[in-house]
Amino acid sequence: MIWKSLKMTHSLNKKYIPLVVLGKILAVSQLYVSIIMGSMILDMVIGRQAVSEIMRLVFIMVISTALLIVGWWGVENVLRVMERELISKMRQAIVEHCMTLDYEVLEKKETLEMIQKAGDSINSGGGIGNFYYNLTAFIEYFISIITSIVVLLPLFVPTSEKVSGLTGFLNGWYSGLILMCILIVSVVYRYLLARRMSRIGQMQFEKNIDLNRKFAYFFNLIFRYQKGKDIRLYHMQDKVLNGVVENAKEIENNGQWMAKEERPYIIWKSVINYILLLSTYVYVGLKVICRLISLGNVMKYVAAITRMSDSLGSMMESYNALQIKGKYTSYYYDFLNIKNEKYEGTLPLEKRDDNEYLLEFKDVSFHYPNQKEMVLSHVSMKFTIGEKMAIVGPNGAGKSTFIKLLCRLYDPTEGEILLNGIDIKLYDYEEYMKIFSIVFQDYQLFSFPLAENVAASIEYDSEKVKRSLIEAGFEKQLKKFKDGIYANLYQMKEKGIEISGGEAQKIALARALYKDAAVVILDEPTSALDPVSEFEIYKHFDEMVQGKTSIYISHRMSSCRFCNRILVFDKGKIVQQGSHEQLMSQTGELYAKLWEAQAKYYQ
Ligand code: ADP
Repeated sequence: MIWKSLKMTHSLNKKYIPLVVLGKILAVSQLYVSIIMGSMILDMVIGRQAVSEIMRLVFIMVISTALLIVGWWGVENVLRVMERELISKMRQAIVEHCMTLDYEVLEKKETLEMIQKAGDSINSGGGIGNFYYNLTAFIEYFISIITSIVVLLPLFVPTSEKVSGLTGFLNGWYSGLILMCILIVSVVYRYLLARRMSRIGQMQFEKNIDLNRKFAYFFNLIFRYQKGKDIRLYHMQDKVLNGVVENAKEIENNGQWMAKEERPYIIWKSVINYILLLSTYVYVGLKVICRLISLGNVMKYVAAITRMSDSLGSMMESYNALQIKGKYTSYYYDFLNIKNEKYEGTLPLEKRDDNEYLLEFKDVSFHYPNQKEMVLSHVSMKFTIGEKMAIVGPNGAGKSTFIKLLCRLYDPTEGEILLNGIDIKLYDYEEYMKIFSIVFQDYQLFSFPLAENVAASIEYDSEKVKRSLIEAGFEKQLKKFKDGIYANLYQMKEKGIEISGGEAQKIALARALYKDAAVVILDEPTSALDPVSEFEIYKHFDEMVQGKTSIYISHRMSSCRFCNRILVFDKGKIVQQGSHEQLMSQTGELYAKLWEAQAKYYQ
């Protein structure tokens, strides 16, 4: 996973990893220049060398350290900017991937969970940002270990003089073995402790993913001010607050558990470090007493050994942490690897000015991916070009699902849908969708300028936007907006305008009219409109859909009168079809019942 993450980082920015290495070389050199030159200066002072010589070395040390610090600082600054860019590129990749996912795949619970995890892996403090922190630390420790070994080597090289007794023993390379053994034991012990801590850390991370998701849900409620209304009306403040408090409690317990587990680790780490430091002083001190090394070298060797032990231990810790943080990257990868399942056709669509697109459902049955029960069963029908068709039927009869299949949000479980005799799966999806203007019941408007909502694009024809809004019955409201079609909807970046349900529905209708496609589909398009606005829409419906094929789903049975053909859906089947008069003549059947049930209220 670490390797994969490195490869991904390198593919996103080729300069990042080399710069991390350079930065760390500069950081470590800066320390060792001070240690080595400091020891040399101390030896010169003890040896009473000329002041000018000593000052020269001090000057070189100060200048070189200053240059290294400036270089290191410059590289670190560039790296911080790069890290932010990397994370922002990854965030962008998540959004881009979400946008290209099939609706059917996006809607799955597993996909939604993976999006959350991928997002978490980038956003949370311990996520990919932490991976980079550990990566740079790992490189620094590695360089530091190599440098320490180079600095330490002379300590174990015997002097050429013949010496005996304790001095002889200390002069032999094997005397260093005792120190090395203590060093190895301390490092191994730290490694084992670090591994255990990482496991605990991983458990905490897994627990926190769920808790963070819950917290994000409650926190987002604050921003969705539209939900604030229901929260207040139904006195749900306590429920929301309770959710936040319970969740915070769990996060806190999780943190306390982690701190408790960490305590012995911190104590043992200090004890081991202390033993190692003590042994180092004894060993190096004895060598000085036996005149095997100079006094100035004590500082250098003690610093090198402690630094090496610290770097070895910390390197193991970063390695463990990297493996765990690599998991975050794996969440990110898992999400980016989600593939679309829908067949992607390539056939181009013939662009026809006469809108002669013949659509047909051929024995289509369908169940939703997460369910077994068929929602549509053996539906067969043909659209007649230029026809105005209404679809009616009780709630849950499958009317919206029928439309979702037509625009390939889902593919049929059985049977096929044809356009001009060819299975719609075989067409290039984007081109295929160009022939539809659809307003779903749960249409969405966005906190963008009104014109962009209507045109569904940043570029638009202002006159056409205005025309579509007027056709959709939005003229009066538009006149009230100070910024006209440039007014921002809802509150996001800038202060926007709030619109009513009916106004929103008219804007959604205008969006469909702006698209000016061959087939217009309106799913409950007037449900939020006042009777006058509704009447206006019906009155202009003929003009709106002139020369186009239109499908109109509605619970207002009276709207069916505007249509040439009516399909009656019940329990996933087309149970009746014909003109209003034909269907009314079938007394006792569903259409007549639905009509009469509604007519009663208007008598
Ligand atoms: P209608 O538009 O006639 O009211 P729908 O086509 O919306 O009915 O729904 C038909 C059935 O399919 C309903 O029982 C509904 O619960 C179910 N359904 C709708 N959307 C989904 C979905 N995304 N996943 C699972 N079941 C769904």
